[in-house]
Amino acid sequence: MVRVAEWLSVAAMELSSTLFPHYCLVCGERLSADRLMICPACLDLLARYPGSEALYDAEKRIEGHAPFTEYRSDLGFSHHNPVRDLIHTIKYEGHPELGERLGRLFAPEHLRAGHFADIGVAVPVPLTPRRLRRRGYNQSAYIARGLTGVLGIRLDETLLARRDSTGTQTHRGREARWASMREAFYVPDPDKVSRRRILIIDDVLTTGATLSACALALMEAGAESVSYYTLACGERTI
Ligand SMILES: [Zn+2]
Repeated sequence: MVRVAEWLSVAAMELSSTLFPHYCLVCGERLSADRLMICPACLDLLARYPGSEALYDAEKRIEGHAPFTEYRSDLGFSHHNPVRDLIHTIKYEGHPELGERLGRLFAPEHLRAGHFADIGVAVPVPLTPRRLRRRGYNQSAYIARGLTGVLGIRLDETLLARRDSTGTQTHRGREARWASMREAFYVPDPDKVSRRRILIIDDVLTTGATLSACALALMEAGAESVSYYTLACGERTI
């Protein structure tokens, strides 16, 4: 009887993977029934692109713009590595749940290392209302849910808000772009922010302008300290 039950359960799993096949979101390979989104080979591959080196350079990028207490990224992002495809899949191809999974995947290591131990509340970098309507989801909120769920940090997606941008930024100088980015973010209710140690969560750090603008908005609203986590950290692009 036991063997029949085992056989039935294996057969049911195989049937469901035949009827609803899953494919690796990074390489497109068909996945076995017990794997949900990324194949083991791609997980190994991603492990070869740690965020730490890119982060060293990122420190210089945000220097002087916002005082972050703690900052961490798990993956190094460049235009020629698979991390870029992964971020693209999460952000533009309708797979925010992959962001949540990756947040959850990397979180236990941060927990073990005691990272973000004194954080009181976390907030994802908000999208503009216009972009949120168009995309239908905020990928950073999904990453934030995965990470904070494991770390036991309270997540409040309403701490920060973002205005629809006015006009194009393409032809402005660096300082003008920083300034206009700073004006884009605001804190709707300073009481929720005042004297709190806050963790900002985003998908990718590139110029650092977005995170710095968020941090400055939070500090001006009375936050005690601001830290950040990004899933990936990019090479300098400007
Ligand atoms: Zn794969």
